[in-house]
Amino acid sequence: MDSPIHNPSASGHQIHCIATFTFNSRKTNLNYPDILTDKSNSMCGIVGYIGNKPAEPILIEGLKRLEYRGYDSVGIAVIRDGKIYLQKCPGRISNLEQQLRDNPPAAPAANNNPIQESTKSTIGIAHTRWATHGKANKVNAHPHTDCSGKIAIVHNGIIENYASLKQVLIEKGHQFTSQTDSEILAHLIEEFYQGGKVDFVQAVQSALREVSGTYGLAVICADQPDILVAARKGSPLIVGVGADEYIVASDAAAIVAHTANVVYLNDNEVAVAGKDGLKTLTLDNALISKQVEQIECSLEEIALGGYEHFMLKEIFEQPECLRNTLRGRLNLQDETIQLGGLTEVSKELIKIRRIILTGCGTAWHAGLIGEYLFEDIAKIPAEVEYASELRYRNPIIEDATAVIAVSQSGETADTLSALREVKQKGALTLGVVNVVGSSIARETDAGVYLHVGPEIGVASTKAFTAQITVLALISLYLGRRRFLSQATLQYYMEQLSAIPDKVEEVLQQSDKIAQIARECYQHNNWLFLGRGYNYPIALEGALKLKEISYIHAEGLPAAEMKHGPIALIHEGMPVVFLATRCSTYEKILGNIQEVRARGGRIIAIATRGDGSITKYADDVLFIPDCPVPLTPILTVVPLQLLAYHAAVARGCDVDKPRNLAKSVTVE
Ligand code: GLU
Repeated sequence: MDSPIHNPSASGHQIHCIATFTFNSRKTNLNYPDILTDKSNSMCGIVGYIGNKPAEPILIEGLKRLEYRGYDSVGIAVIRDGKIYLQKCPGRISNLEQQLRDNPPAAPAANNNPIQESTKSTIGIAHTRWATHGKANKVNAHPHTDCSGKIAIVHNGIIENYASLKQVLIEKGHQFTSQTDSEILAHLIEEFYQGGKVDFVQAVQSALREVSGTYGLAVICADQPDILVAARKGSPLIVGVGADEYIVASDAAAIVAHTANVVYLNDNEVAVAGKDGLKTLTLDNALISKQVEQIECSLEEIALGGYEHFMLKEIFEQPECLRNTLRGRLNLQDETIQLGGLTEVSKELIKIRRIILTGCGTAWHAGLIGEYLFEDIAKIPAEVEYASELRYRNPIIEDATAVIAVSQSGETADTLSALREVKQKGALTLGVVNVVGSSIARETDAGVYLHVGPEIGVASTKAFTAQITVLALISLYLGRRRFLSQATLQYYMEQLSAIPDKVEEVLQQSDKIAQIARECYQHNNWLFLGRGYNYPIALEGALKLKEISYIHAEGLPAAEMKHGPIALIHEGMPVVFLATRCSTYEKILGNIQEVRARGGRIIAIATRGDGSITKYADDVLFIPDCPVPLTPILTVVPLQLLAYHAAVARGCDVDKPRNLAKSVTVE
């Protein structure tokens, strides 16, 4: 039998080196924030407990510690008297607590066993959900159970192949109750467990070998009340090692109140915690040696994952977020774009002759890029409109017009009103939103989610790059149904799949960007200039700077400068040029010289390998080469960092800029 890596009975509640277990007193260093955030972008939060204390209060408290992440529904499951008891609800953790208090005793039944006298339970799992598949309602809230009601799971992440697995499981007689991707995990484990004929841990391992995508997972089984099983791939998972107890969580915040000793799980590892100790295994059941590390930092530091602000954290999360946005949508084998959210309207989409994109602020900038993408790639006439203008303008909506509403929250009041206006005029409405089940998601005919997890910083960053990515996906999807050749589609798909790594490369220049910001932050007027696909990025760069540093900035099409704004240029004025390689590159160089001749300080964003630009610019920030239509996903990143570092240098409250709210739900 495999020996545990931590064995409380052997150590007399102390942590000792036994077998493959080693103790490491190294303190987690916040300069390496990825130790805490694990670089993975967990959609929301999971907690699991096994020990000798009542599980429910510990799980509820753990959920509260994860509250800062934002979530849409919560749930908890415990084992008592050989049965799973379950409670879940949409909304806040306090709703769940209320339900737990009020809940009348009821006989346990498969899939619907309310918790009662659960203080007797010393094992359980809990979840805060950030929906990716299926509305944020009670049915879709986690934990999810199998048909027998004996197995309960909580899951963070996205199971890419859930649809095909679900089909197979339905054919085998499994009955599903939710629309989530996660529920398949409970049924798949049930399938391998064979009612107890197979070892439970091995059933979990077998199930996980079948799934693709990402997971942070905690599983309990009513037949095995003495073990808690957890696993991870792409979503973080940490095991807190207490005296005679273990608490697994997607975030150290849920653990630190109990213990500073933790074991970090790596991808494709399974942890089994119970009265026999803790062991970590591969999916093929080989024992893995682990170190127990110590976390010593405040809850606030944990929430920020070692970053100084949520905005900076979210800027750095972008590579992982974009991987989630693209997950399951670029089918490189079949060479097709899969957008499940558009399937229902795919016939109408073929007939579309005009696209109107609408949104506010940053989402409008994404919409402007969408306009270029649809005309360029899908060859469909497109225009972007401010939602606040569109709704009062009595717009003409002809037949075969699609309106795409772009909004991170899906609740932006102006966008929602514009949507209702065009809908009653007969437009086909589509949503590009982050929050699953939000008003815009509910009221549009179809749509595509961003899947970037909660965005907490008021200034939008990761939602913006994901909005562009989704609009690029939709334009390719529509383009292929029109004039786009298979070869061109394939080229773009390959280029899109390389984008997250390229964003990662751009982020490596953060220190250099901070230095430039420190040199320029005292200037009260800045210009951002770009052409083509970089013009919306000039607008976005200026908006970011205004929003969080309160510096006055304007974004302009570079060639427009000589028609007026050039009068503003004075000695030392920061002028940011988006000068990446494209058909107007030479013209941009001309514009740079015009500004330089008038004493402006040039900060250029250029394509790596461009040797000539350094002759004209005071500072150059390079982005990796990529097809012109995808350039904005890369060029915006240094501008987000520039705005961020300028705001920090000015002592501004980056995450809560004055006068601004995260989601503008008033007109
Ligand atoms: N994809 C799962 C769902 O939509 C998990 C989301 C999460 O990580 O909160 O239920």
